[in-house]
Amino acid sequence: MFRIIDCHCHAGKGDGLTGPWDTDAPLERYLQWAQAAGIGQTVLFAAFHSDYARANAEVARLVATQPQRFFGFAFVHAQHDRGRIFHLVQTAVEQYGFCGIKVHRHDGRITREVCDVARAFAVPVLYDVMGEVSAVELLATEYPTVNFIIPHLGSFADDWRAQLALIPMLERHANVFTDTSGVRRFDLLEQAVRRAGATKVLFGADGPWLHPGVELEKVFALQLPDAATREILAGNFLRLIRNRRRRALPPAGQTGAGIRAVPDTGRQDPWSQKPGDAHLIF
Ligand SMILES: [Zn+2]
Repeated sequence: MFRIIDCHCHAGKGDGLTGPWDTDAPLERYLQWAQAAGIGQTVLFAAFHSDYARANAEVARLVATQPQRFFGFAFVHAQHDRGRIFHLVQTAVEQYGFCGIKVHRHDGRITREVCDVARAFAVPVLYDVMGEVSAVELLATEYPTVNFIIPHLGSFADDWRAQLALIPMLERHANVFTDTSGVRRFDLLEQAVRRAGATKVLFGADGPWLHPGVELEKVFALQLPDAATREILAGNFLRLIRNRRRRALPPAGQTGAGIRAVPDTGRQDPWSQKPGDAHLIF
């Protein structure tokens, strides 16, 4: 039996009507599927939304219903939320117990503001580059202490060139990771693990729209030694969130928007078994 953490699942209502991705991410069927597949824990973040403060609060309520079952990531809009990224992430980390940041290029390209805040809280950033993998080279080198998870091997749209181009970046940069969600080109997934190593690939399903059991089978189909499978299914994710800080000062030039900021105590946070006290509110 493996401990299995799905590092990529949307949850809650969007406020658009373009498609499921900005309308609704209901978890009921996802949770049945995940349970049947042996997926014990899931990272939740919002669907596309015009107000991520609201959307993150909804995700926080879901996480709080089963704090041992769910992790939360703060979704931020790099452009609309300009100037308040610290505030959004601070609320998510301090009050909701969230342990990462989600950014999507569909909203806007990632900014230094987002990276600075990720560095301040020592949380990973799951950034969907939508095929623009060249940006990863800059992120990795400008922010060597921030860990970036580039989902879908760089392209949900199966852009072979983009996915192929991400693999050497996974190899070269210690702080660049990917997830398995939605990756259809199995040979590229295999190649990523072979070249970059199992420690650079995280299991993710992109639920509730993709079936987590179907996505999980891809990991087993890699037919890796158990130790490597364990890293992909849980170990890598747990390492990425292990050192997160519950308190941080705003990066230079940014304010906490009136929110109290206290110095980081430097206390390491052993997240190996998901302490319930990280979820304080509601
Ligand atoms: Zn997604």
